[in-house]
Amino acid sequence: MGTRHVHALVIGCGAVGSACAFRLAERGLSVMLLDRAPAPAAGSSSKSAGGIRAQFSSAANVAMSLLSLECIDHLSQEYGEDVGYRAIGYLLLIPEEHWDDHLHTVEKQRKLGAQVEVIQSDRLQDLVSLETNGLAGASFGPADGILDPHWLVSAQVRLARRHGASIMLGQSVTEISRSETHWQVSTQDGTTTSRVTADLIVNAAGPWAGQIGDLAGLSVPVSPKRTMILLSDEVGEKQRQLPMIIDTSSGFYLRSEGHKLLFGRSNPNQSLGFHSGMDWPWLEHVLQPGVERFPWLADVGVDTRGSWWGYYEMTPDSSPIIGEHPDTLGDKGPRWIDACGFSGHGVMHSLATGLLVAEIAEGDTSRSVDTTPFRHGRFEQRNNRELNVY
Ligand SMILES: Cc1cc2nc3c(=O)[nH]c(=O)nc-3n(C[C@H](O)[C@H](O)[C@H](O)COP(=O)(O)OP(=O)(O)OC[C@H]3O[C@@H](n4cnc5c(N)ncnc54)[C@H](O)[C@@H]3O)c2cc1C
Repeated sequence: MGTRHVHALVIGCGAVGSACAFRLAERGLSVMLLDRAPAPAAGSSSKSAGGIRAQFSSAANVAMSLLSLECIDHLSQEYGEDVGYRAIGYLLLIPEEHWDDHLHTVEKQRKLGAQVEVIQSDRLQDLVSLETNGLAGASFGPADGILDPHWLVSAQVRLARRHGASIMLGQSVTEISRSETHWQVSTQDGTTTSRVTADLIVNAAGPWAGQIGDLAGLSVPVSPKRTMILLSDEVGEKQRQLPMIIDTSSGFYLRSEGHKLLFGRSNPNQSLGFHSGMDWPWLEHVLQPGVERFPWLADVGVDTRGSWWGYYEMTPDSSPIIGEHPDTLGDKGPRWIDACGFSGHGVMHSLATGLLVAEIAEGDTSRSVDTTPFRHGRFEQRNNRELNVY
């Protein structure tokens, strides 16, 4: 089989890779979008709860969410693509000891253009039945909400294809080597080995981004972390219109999903790595703070078959890596751009990332959002951690 050459090879056909392929192809570059799975969105993107919110602590993450919301609008207006966005809102419950800091964060979010309302604790009962013990109040983002990850990836794949990108599924990247002018990549479909060469690789392999880096001899500090989401049995009318509610004192969250609820709480002791399967022993640590805050939850059953798990793709400071790899930056050889490590926010930030990666590929820097906080070399300075991670 002959070797095919493209300008940009995007590895990973999830929310991030499909966004990058679409935006690179939209600029007229020859693009190949490649995934080992037989269908798009087979990695973490299919496991996402589809949440999108601007209520982050770091300005850069707020900017990513706002740009992504603009992109959703643009996909609809310009291309007629519906990604299933619904502004159901995010309600963050804040304990007394964090209230002052949180109000400063809300001020920052508003200055950046995010819609955020402040709600005192005596008004919370109007929104949801809960115990307000220890809470000073909440913030509510009315434009925060959810989208459908499958609709999003399908739309972006369609648009990438419409702009001339080729989509290669069922092809696992097994080797990556570098010549003076381009990358040489071997892929396997189980029986046959194929080869492709590229001037630029975009690493959008989600939780596997570190492995893709290893194949090329590049260090990409992204590690998988198992996370699960629980589905409830059917709930009553009153609980079918709930926004995403996060009790930031415990990390417990819930939201309505049709006639049911999605709920969960991240396990702080979950070690990094490809651990698989549901972590059922953790369930009691989810329910205990959940029932304390929402006593009616004690009467709601868990749909164990409908619940699921997947991998977050963690970096040391819980913010993504977007940009040129330092080992290829500035030399005359082929380029490598990482778009990975979204630490559980990759679906919501994928739309913005596609644009930024295309801008970096075209020039050297991004224009729509300053990606300096997401550069590789930042991890030595330990002051950059995103705080609003659940
Ligand atoms: C339970 C759960 C809930 C979540 N909820 C949210 C949420 O509400 N909002 C949000 O924004 N995010 C959420 N996330 C996080 C979100 O799912 C991820 O951040 C996002 O999907 C990352 O997208 P991606 O395209 O980078 O990676 P992926 O979707 O994982 O895509 C990477 C792709 O790379 C491919 N690949 C890997 N290795 C190779 C190889 N060697 N060769 C070829 N292809 C390869 C994989 O097959 C995969 O398809 C959640 C995650 C989980 C697990």
